[in-house]
Amino acid sequence: MTNYLYQNDLPDNLNLGNMIAIDTETMGLNPSRDRLCLIQISCGDGDAHLIQISSDQKIAKNICSLLENPEILKIFHFGRFDIAVLFKQFNVLCESVYCTKIASKLVRTFTDRHGLKNLLHELIAIDVSKQQQSSDWGNPVLTQAQIEYAASDVLYLHRVKEELDVRLARENRTDIAQACFDFLPKRAQLDILGWPDNDIFSHS
Ligand code: MN
Repeated sequence: MTNYLYQNDLPDNLNLGNMIAIDTETMGLNPSRDRLCLIQISCGDGDAHLIQISSDQKIAKNICSLLENPEILKIFHFGRFDIAVLFKQFNVLCESVYCTKIASKLVRTFTDRHGLKNLLHELIAIDVSKQQQSSDWGNPVLTQAQIEYAASDVLYLHRVKEELDVRLARENRTDIAQACFDFLPKRAQLDILGWPDNDIFSHS
């Protein structure tokens, strides 16, 4: 279990396989206003790869080729936000995505608690602290607590996905989930293009 910290991009020739968990930390919750500070990636082996992004950075060659690669599935939790932030920063729209929050909403209809903390607790009996969530991710020197928190947001997503996939199959909602995942990058793009709060499918 190692947390690797990089500046600006992943190293060349790092093979993370065909399914990665990914999360971002930003200066706030408005993807049009608040800049990307950190990208966390794990291939589900207990290691986390954390990449600090500088404020004016527009290019991250290795990260963008991962994001655009349709052969590599990206597991997010509330991917709508992360995909929008990554699109805003690098002008690259993710392909092949899975979102544990959407999957949870489609199968855990008995609750409105779909936060990552809730999913980790209920589905794989892991308890994490969310204390660092609203800390200053723009700080060039991250604290150990920030690094551990950031890593914990990607370390368990493969296992959460596995549990959710079983439940999606049980409830016959695998296909509708996949359709939502297929649309998700475009939904995130609409957020950035100026339709953040509109349901474009609604009558009004
Ligand atoms: Mn996070």
